[in-house]
Amino acid sequence: MSKSTSSHDTPMMRQYLEAKAEHPEAVVLMRMGDFYEAFLTDAEELSRICGVTLTSRNKDSPDPIMMAGVPHHSLQTHLPKLLAAGKKVAVVDQLEDPALAKGLVKRGLTRVITPGTLVDESGLEAQAANHLVALTALDGAVSIVGIAALDVSTGRFTVEEARDAGELALALARLAPAELLLPAAVREHEDTPERLARLLPTVPPLASLAAYAWQPADARRHLAETLKVGSLDGFGIGPGDDHLAAAAAAALRYASGALRAGHEGGAAGLGHVRSISRLVRGGHLELDANCRRNLELLKNARDGSRRGTLLEAIDRTRTAPGARLLAAWIAHPLADPAAISVRHDAVGWLVADDGRRAAIREALGSVYDGERLLARVATDRANARDLVQLATSLGAAAQVAAAIGTDAPAMLDGAVAALEPVPGLADDIARTLVEAPPLAISDGGLVRDGVDADLDELRRLNRDASDWLAAYQAREAAACGLTKLKVGFNSVFGYFIELPKSAAERVPPHFVRKQTLVNAERYITPELKEHEDKVLHAEERSRARELALFHGLRARAEAAIPELSACATALAIVDVLAGLAELARSAVWCRPQVDDSTVLDLRESRHPVVERVIGHGSFVANDCLLDASDDRMTRLAVITGPNMAGKSTYIRQIALCVILAQAGSFVPAREARIGVCDRVFTRVGAGDELSRNLSTFMVEMAETAAILNHATPRSLVVLDEVGRGTSTFDGLSLAWAITEHLHDRTRCRALFATHYHEMTDLADDRAGICNLTVAVAEQDDDVVFLHRIVPGAAAKSYGIHVARLAGVPATVVARAREVLESLARLNTELAEAERPAARATGAVQLTLWQAVEHPAMAKLKAVDLDDLSPKQALELLYALKRMA
Ligand code: ADP
Repeated sequence: MSKSTSSHDTPMMRQYLEAKAEHPEAVVLMRMGDFYEAFLTDAEELSRICGVTLTSRNKDSPDPIMMAGVPHHSLQTHLPKLLAAGKKVAVVDQLEDPALAKGLVKRGLTRVITPGTLVDESGLEAQAANHLVALTALDGAVSIVGIAALDVSTGRFTVEEARDAGELALALARLAPAELLLPAAVREHEDTPERLARLLPTVPPLASLAAYAWQPADARRHLAETLKVGSLDGFGIGPGDDHLAAAAAAALRYASGALRAGHEGGAAGLGHVRSISRLVRGGHLELDANCRRNLELLKNARDGSRRGTLLEAIDRTRTAPGARLLAAWIAHPLADPAAISVRHDAVGWLVADDGRRAAIREALGSVYDGERLLARVATDRANARDLVQLATSLGAAAQVAAAIGTDAPAMLDGAVAALEPVPGLADDIARTLVEAPPLAISDGGLVRDGVDADLDELRRLNRDASDWLAAYQAREAAACGLTKLKVGFNSVFGYFIELPKSAAERVPPHFVRKQTLVNAERYITPELKEHEDKVLHAEERSRARELALFHGLRARAEAAIPELSACATALAIVDVLAGLAELARSAVWCRPQVDDSTVLDLRESRHPVVERVIGHGSFVANDCLLDASDDRMTRLAVITGPNMAGKSTYIRQIALCVILAQAGSFVPAREARIGVCDRVFTRVGAGDELSRNLSTFMVEMAETAAILNHATPRSLVVLDEVGRGTSTFDGLSLAWAITEHLHDRTRCRALFATHYHEMTDLADDRAGICNLTVAVAEQDDDVVFLHRIVPGAAAKSYGIHVARLAGVPATVVARAREVLESLARLNTELAEAERPAARATGAVQLTLWQAVEHPAMAKLKAVDLDDLSPKQALELLYALKRMA
């Protein structure tokens, strides 16, 4: 025991354990020489996650110390792996030059890198927001949940509230948190893991802060101080909104704690986080996690990437902030026709003028990621390259403004007003800094010649110094007649004269020996030493001067963050609008009319993603007309038809058109009128939910329940194959009842693709339901899917044709045909016999499945009544009763 204490009780281990105690959840990395080292369990984690070798110190002691390390220059490549594995990383750096340190090098915690507070790490995805989400609780039943979402990498900060688990899940699905911050008591509660699993498809890394950090009074004070406002009312956080203030303050505290940890002077604030916007429910089209996943809006269902998504298909933006804003618009479309129209006006104006649009997009091509750049400025992480990029972007912003001109619609006009902030700054940066400065700011080489007289003087001294050295070498060599004499420099010993060993006897007396190498000796002379002092000094001073000039520019940028970030936001808006216009023009999309009606009228609509894959000419456009305002109109369509005919494509494209239109985009159709929707619900296919340990059918019913409980007359519901996960009777009965409920009670617009042919009977006595099918052409034995949606019910299911197309052996296909024919014959006979009775009771026609005879029936048919004794008759009756 005592031994173990001693092996861990070195000054270095003490430094490590101190940092670990402060951040027990983080992998602590200590800078030692050229490496970042981890110890004990952290070493094991580092080795496992980053694939580096695990070694041990004090191997022979009973308590060896595990160690693993990564070279300091490769930290940036390893950080994303650690973050992706759900780890936080606490970095302990050397705070003094090891060469100058007396004894143990002074080290300190310089930053804690967490997935939700990234600013400059390579783990950030350029095209996606990175939200730290703080929740005051997980249970809306106890109190209203305050939700704050902070993207430290851009400064965007929103608050909203949730009154129940459903609202909370909706918000979380939209925000896709990179990290979730909870009050410590909630984090530690035993029900929390289960609650979270129900709220989110994948639970992000968790963090917590103690109760005091969520105290409303303190929270309000902290927010007001940090955001420099007298009252929070301007952010929409009123006197009754303690839960919002608490969540926002906790998020801000956690982020500044992570970014500022140990930062000397505490200069790194969050100056780019300037305001909070409050989201109010009702102003937006709400999309739950299922809908986002089923329709593959931002991420595909296979690997979570952008490939094959709606976003990928429509993204024509030229900047990363533009791409992020487009994703935000799709993630949270609007629900107010007037606000939607403002976006459509701007897109339409840009569609109409190819020249202007091209000029704007050309200028946008030289815009850098201003939002993230300013976050680095605000948190003291910006280098000279960032400032040069800022200047370039500002120059481009002015060009964008000029290209838009003065007669643009409101949204573009508003953007133009912000596009030319801080006159002079861009010019001063461009004039001062070289075009491609090095990444490090302390090694010089940042500032142009001719900008600063002092710097020029110091540089001249340096340049002259090299001339002087050449002359000095020539002079000394001539004086002692040693032609092999060379003057050199290295960072440890400074300047030296080098001579081969063989010349040792002829060395002049004023040479002082400094270092011995294998074949050479190195010397110094008083004259060379004096030169060294002068030069090193000049170099040091010139680097310091460069740094000061750089800091001056950076301070100006920092002081102008409000204007600069308004400019960055305006550029993102212009980029999204111009991108949507480019798309609408090149893909031939139309401006939808979005109004307060409950009509959904699409003419010649297409699926934006499928069309892109198979080509504009090959996609068969289809109409859709639903109207929930009037009982005589159709509001629900039942779509039957063979597999692979295009049912899913059709119903999805309609949902996508609604989402696109309400996000502000044009839509893939010839003409469109869309009565604004409050929610789009989808229930599509059998998702792979094994990871959540729920049976497929359970998932299907949970999704359906959510729809039936939450859909309103303003919603659009899209159902694809409900009831497949259970027996046919069960499935059909459920599908039937669900459709009735949607039509009779919810009275919303709905599309239901199903293989239950029986469902087409629903349209017989309901004017609000119509049947649609997909046209099929049959030639001899071949089926051709025309992908054209037409009124009516599918004639048959063509499953056997599809099986043949898929390569099922010919013998099996032939036998299946035989079985089908005999079943069909039987079905027709029975249907004929039973039709009047079934009609009378209003029962569903399920005759095919009744064709299998009950054994009691068979027994009864076989009995010869004239051949039974009374006792036998009684026994038979008992037997039949048992069988029934
Ligand atoms: P279903 O839901 O009826 O089984 P899908 O909607 O999955 O059929 O469509 C099957 C395939 O048919 C799609 O992958 C697509 O390639 C093609 N398809 C669907 N709709 C169309 C269309 N309108 N025009 C052209 N091809 C289409």
